[in-house]
Amino acid sequence: MFNAEDIRQDFPILNREVNGKPLIYLDNAATSQTPQQVIDVIVDYYTNYNANIHRGVHSLSQEATDAYEQARIKIQKHFNAKYAYEIIYTSGTTHGINLVANGFSSLLKAGDEIIVSALEHHSNIVPWQMLCEQTGSKLKVIPMNQDGELVISEFDAVLNTNTKLVFVNHVSNALGTINPIASIIEKAHAVGAAVLVDGAQSSPHIKADVQALDVDFYVCSAHKMCGPTGVGVLYGKEEWLNKLPPYQGGGEMIAEVTFEKTTYADLPHKFEAGTPNICGGIAFGAAIDYMNTIGFETISNYEDELLQYATEQLNNIEGLKIYGTSKHKTSVISFNVANIHPYDIGTLLDKMGIAVRTGHHCAQPIMDFYKIPGTVRASFMFYNTKEEIDQFITALKKTVTMLS
Ligand code: PMP
Repeated sequence: MFNAEDIRQDFPILNREVNGKPLIYLDNAATSQTPQQVIDVIVDYYTNYNANIHRGVHSLSQEATDAYEQARIKIQKHFNAKYAYEIIYTSGTTHGINLVANGFSSLLKAGDEIIVSALEHHSNIVPWQMLCEQTGSKLKVIPMNQDGELVISEFDAVLNTNTKLVFVNHVSNALGTINPIASIIEKAHAVGAAVLVDGAQSSPHIKADVQALDVDFYVCSAHKMCGPTGVGVLYGKEEWLNKLPPYQGGGEMIAEVTFEKTTYADLPHKFEAGTPNICGGIAFGAAIDYMNTIGFETISNYEDELLQYATEQLNNIEGLKIYGTSKHKTSVISFNVANIHPYDIGTLLDKMGIAVRTGHHCAQPIMDFYKIPGTVRASFMFYNTKEEIDQFITALKKTVTMLS
């Protein structure tokens, strides 16, 4: 039986105080907290077997290599990739997207088209703009509506046989909207376009099955899934990863090097130049184990309850407007109150120990759509409780009174 109070015991940071008040951490869409089980894995690595991986003959190097490769297999199984070598370690979602964008610069030509959604994080907009500049391809956008949902009929209208790539996040980090990725993938494939799904914000809440989705590329970051920062993965279908050129040159990614010619290593190493975040990869595996022990269905059911509860409470506050009112949402709530600046609300909440995010959440086009500079964003994980939401609402009401 899931009990958030028990789960909280796994997260030492949740016991600390901020500004003399117990911490209420509602900034999970920026980064999640790390359970002791994952912290222990990190400490164990640096205490007992810190060594560089691959090709080392000594025991420490072999232990580190085994643990790193075992973690890759855990990640493969979690996302149901067909092969472990389709999982490329990255420094996070941004790195994964840039790796794919860089690869496509040699595959696209002028006149080709790329489609992104209006709900993207800057990391899923800027690399494609750069790619278009390099190749002469055109960027098209699937627009959004007032509820913060993609207008799929407009996707149908811009999709055509010139479309080579479609990029969409599974969940918007700014609004929490869950996008209909399965049908987007199916439609894109019907015109021969590849699809990259940005799973940074969905992966902590929804377990993606990359084979069932038939997605070409899927990217995510460990730090949103109870793992450390600076590590993530790119899943790519074998055929695509073989087609793309390497992203960075260096050690680890080669088969043979001479001054005349270099040949590249097989997957996944072709895309893994240099010493990677070894401990990070191992800890990512541990974080996935941790979340699977709780279970993603349990996690998303509980977080949906929190989302519903918080939405109801927030809607009772006069002058409060929630941005992103789709029925298909995960536990992210973006809002403003009357014309109070989000930054002022965030600053006062912090004085009461409550961590929320304020600003444009790296999604300026969404803010432009609503004609606002930014929002206050509260985002929940399975270790948050209704009691914390009650305290957040009380503090928010106090804040609004002070600022009105
Ligand atoms: N895409 C989405 C939807 C995100 O939420 C984030 C992180 N806020 C990113 C991309 C970028 O992830 P990272 O900073 O870990 O590379």
